[in-house]
Amino acid sequence: YTGKTGSELLTEKLKQFTVHDFQSIPVVVNEDVSVYDAICTMFLEDIGTLFVVNNDANLSGVLSRKDLLRASIGKQDLREIPVHIIMTRMPNVTMCYKDDLLLEAAQSLIERQIDALPVVKEVESGFEVIGRLTKTNVTKALVELGRDQRL
Ligand code: ADP
Repeated sequence: YTGKTGSELLTEKLKQFTVHDFQSIPVVVNEDVSVYDAICTMFLEDIGTLFVVNNDANLSGVLSRKDLLRASIGKQDLREIPVHIIMTRMPNVTMCYKDDLLLEAAQSLIERQIDALPVVKEVESGFEVIGRLTKTNVTKALVELGRDQRL
């Protein structure tokens, strides 16, 4: 018996969780696609945040549901507006790395009041998107902690 309290064991387990353990597959669109096509992709992929990449396949921005809703108010032709006009762009995109602690990534989500972070890998020309970390992924980690019989 280690003499550790339940809460100490819980914290220990939580601090072993990395982004990589819970990340999902990212969905990306090119910065030149139209707002209309981005909306279609968001529905077809059943996902709340799209990551935007440039022609070098490097991260250039993020599109949330509300970004797309905002662009849809008014009379503009959504087929003619490229997403790079309305996205949140680099360097203002909050990212994380696969080896980051899940807890740190979760803290970024809360602090920035956003739903998802791109999981990136640094390359010569910028950042390659290799995953997606959402509030749902963090919730899954919470459920796993609660289910663990050893605690
Ligand atoms: P919604 O706008 O649909 O509620 P979010 O809360 O995730 O979804 O997004 C709020 C705003 O923050 C949007 O304008 C979005 O472009 C931006 N945003 C979302 N994710 C990120 C991120 N990882 N880094 C920077 N900005 C982001």
